[in-house]
Amino acid sequence: MVVMEAINAIIVIAFIALIPLLATILHSRRSGAVAIAAQWPCSDPQSKPQNRFKRVLADNSYTPFAHLKLDGGEISLKAHPYEELITNLLSNPPDPLNFFLTSCDCPEMSDSYVWVDTEEKLESLARLLSEERVFAVDTEQHSLRSFLGFTALMQVSTRREDFLVDTIALHDVIGVLRPVFADQSICKVFHGADNDVIWLQRDFHIYVVNLFDTAKACEVLSKPYKSLAYLLETYCGVSTDKTLQLEDWRIRPLLPEMVQYARTDAHYLLYIANCLVSELQRKTHDTSASSDDKFNFFLEASHRSNMICMQLYTKEREPSPGASAAASIYMRNFNFQGSVSEDCLEAKDRIWKLCAWRDIMARIHDESLRYIMSDQAIVSLATKAPKDAKEIHDIEVEANVSYCSSNNYPSLPSPSPVVIAHMGELCYLLQEVNSNIDDMFRRYLQKHLDPSGCCPLSIYNCSLLSELNLRQPTTLFLKQNGGHSTVPVGKKASRELFVQKFSCKSPVYHNCRIYANDGRLLCFCDRRKLEWYLRRNLAKIVEDDPPAIMLLFEPKGRPEDEGNDFYIQSKKNICVGCGEKSHYLRYRIIPSCYRMHFPEHLKSHRSHDIVLLCVDCHEVAHSAAEKYKRKVAAEFGIPLFVQTIVESRENMIDAVAKSEYTEKETGVSPLQLRIAAMALLRHGSTMPLKRRDELTEIVKAYFGGRDIIQEDLERALLVGLSPHERRRLEKKRGLSFKHRDIDAVAKDNPYITSVTSQDNGKISNKLEVSRGSTTYESSKGQDASVDINAQLEDNFLTDDNEKNANGETSDQGRGCISTTDTLNEDPSEQADAICCSSSGQVVKANRAKTVSLLGHGPHGKEVVEYLLNNHGEEGIRNFCQKWRQVFVDATNPRFLPAGWDIMHSGRREFGDYSVYNPGKKALPPPSTT
Ligand code: AMP
Ligand code: MN
Ligand code: ZN
Repeated sequence: MVVMEAINAIIVIAFIALIPLLATILHSRRSGAVAIAAQWPCSDPQSKPQNRFKRVLADNSYTPFAHLKLDGGEISLKAHPYEELITNLLSNPPDPLNFFLTSCDCPEMSDSYVWVDTEEKLESLARLLSEERVFAVDTEQHSLRSFLGFTALMQVSTRREDFLVDTIALHDVIGVLRPVFADQSICKVFHGADNDVIWLQRDFHIYVVNLFDTAKACEVLSKPYKSLAYLLETYCGVSTDKTLQLEDWRIRPLLPEMVQYARTDAHYLLYIANCLVSELQRKTHDTSASSDDKFNFFLEASHRSNMICMQLYTKEREPSPGASAAASIYMRNFNFQGSVSEDCLEAKDRIWKLCAWRDIMARIHDESLRYIMSDQAIVSLATKAPKDAKEIHDIEVEANVSYCSSNNYPSLPSPSPVVIAHMGELCYLLQEVNSNIDDMFRRYLQKHLDPSGCCPLSIYNCSLLSELNLRQPTTLFLKQNGGHSTVPVGKKASRELFVQKFSCKSPVYHNCRIYANDGRLLCFCDRRKLEWYLRRNLAKIVEDDPPAIMLLFEPKGRPEDEGNDFYIQSKKNICVGCGEKSHYLRYRIIPSCYRMHFPEHLKSHRSHDIVLLCVDCHEVAHSAAEKYKRKVAAEFGIPLFVQTIVESRENMIDAVAKSEYTEKETGVSPLQLRIAAMALLRHGSTMPLKRRDELTEIVKAYFGGRDIIQEDLERALLVGLSPHERRRLEKKRGLSFKHRDIDAVAKDNPYITSVTSQDNGKISNKLEVSRGSTTYESSKGQDASVDINAQLEDNFLTDDNEKNANGETSDQGRGCISTTDTLNEDPSEQADAICCSSSGQVVKANRAKTVSLLGHGPHGKEVVEYLLNNHGEEGIRNFCQKWRQVFVDATNPRFLPAGWDIMHSGRREFGDYSVYNPGKKALPPPSTT
């Protein structure tokens, strides 16, 4: 007994004695003690200050960023913790007199400033700021030796003092400043706050509420420039060397010129803001005296500023690691015309692999992509396909030397220590053909981050490992282009499949430019529009890449006439919701079912209301739109869905009055109808009775409840399809419904009736053909309409869309000459009496006769007619504004192009040739065919 106890005690003591040893081993592994550094030849953790951070909010894993959770709230991925406060500020803008002085002198910059690098000093700064009405802020970032970048310095200036906050030393405690930044009674002045606002969220969960952005003020005042350097020069007579911006802001102590630069960025901002606010008020006063519309310039600047605060930081996402970079490198360097050689394909494969490898290495080692390996080196390696370490080494050196010398870039170690340390792996990667990126990643992560692996574990990369262990490997990454993968499973995989299938296959905005003959920029547009002018000798080319033309005639109207710079913004090919770059789809903010019935001249601003969204934001926007459509239906008493025999309009309104018709949809969605009919036709005899009855009920509902026969099923298959889609279905089924059934369908179908016989106004009370949840067409042209889930609608119909709705084409020649949307090019299509363009534009030459099957049948048309009859065009404008509001409320878009505006009026001058010119209907519309 005694012996046993003694043995136990010895074991316990031995174990306790082992703990410090274990801890030392673990600690040194993680924090990288010097002695162990040789174990990680790929990195020197000691030299990177971020390795001393105890906590990071945004690590290098693929997990979405979690935003600040306010008391009682949930950890939030998408919602802004101060949304309510900011929204309130947007609708009740603050009085500038609360924060800004009517007059003051430009403040000299003294020699003294406060260096804040301890918690005590930080706390006293927080106290001091809470007493201020306004203070100025700027931040400096470090992005070379970090994957996501981090804030290296924060400059804060009050009217009396400049503070430089060491956000590296204080990284884990900067949150002390959260309350002053979120305090709506204290105005924060920034210059160009877009990035700072997001960086502060990313690093410190600091959210800015009540912002005045001097760059936005410049925009509203139409200043010739809006850089800080310009403002400093103009208002303060101070010149600044902006190259210091790119200094290594991690170094301590900061060099004197860096201190000077950093202070300058914040010190004068309050004075500059005062000057700009005075100008804004003067301009408001001057312009409203002379006209009716009291445009308040200060409110506009304040509004635009606080819209910036609404932005939320998100980690960029890609379909697979490195995919965006790979696509971009390939496009820039290999996208030759004509056939693609075998060499080219192999190079492409290597680019994908190298980019993927670079991405994962950057995440593991917390380095920027360019630090790991430059784009030029990737191109060289992919082209030359080196066989051994020496060749790789030489190619890297050569690529970087020639690049740095041609660009005056500071040279980086080349090859980078990471490349050198992982050389064997790179050799293998470059030789191995068609490896799959998924496997590669799992292999690398496990190999490198495993406790026995070769790279240091850190707070930046450890959750990459746990993610790997937790997740289904097949759903972690999407396969690289061309690599055929096994059928993916699960929600995420189907989302990815969906992205592949429906997202835009090339950049939507070409960002070509059109200049007026005096050299003023008129608009950005796509290539086809340039060609339109060039073919007609109406313009000459002035630049090649990206192409720009100058008009040879005097355009009618300039962008600034409208006080709206939307059309002269270069637009980014990213999701306007979250900034997702790797894929996007067009989204129509105003559903086609309404828009197609707008008077022509109100359709002309379409590019404003077609935006790019990623699949996730698309889903959010779409479901909000569907909900709002139902609300419109209920409010107007105009139902949405398909029924053959529908109650009369009066009954409908009655039902609404008795609130039987609220959110309930009457009728059947065409997609549901078609799916049911297809299933019954195919498997009716073999399916379980219960299922057969359910499906039959759906089809019966469409036929007003009567019993149905085989022929009804075939007719139901055609409901809501465009002629094009119908032909495809026929082909697929090896049947022709066209001659046999189309007349039968036409009998019930007001549209077909109205088209073929061109008569009467009985339409609206009979059959309702709805596009409801219409078809999607994949760009590969498969018929996706039958098997894709019912929420896919309106916005996904990409087929015609790719052909003619660049989102800009309809703005053809804004203010000058317009073309119509491309006419339908398929002659057989023309032969069909019906023509649909997914954009909702009825585009047949024979306009008067065309009615489209798109939209919720009569619903859209009736709503628009109602609006026009009762409220005129103003009714349509208000209606559009409501849709924009619905969109903004649902998606909180952070990347809308500048100048995008809920209130966008759509008013403008039309040129003599414009199809939108209501007075010029007689002129034949110019065509691009
Ligand atoms: P600023 O507000 O102009 O002082 O810029 C803040 C930070 O943004 C700098 O510390 C840089 O890290 C980053 N930055 C600004 N402009 C550039 C640029 N042209 N290239 C790279 N980084 C930039
Ligand atoms: Mn700065
Ligand atoms: Zn490594």
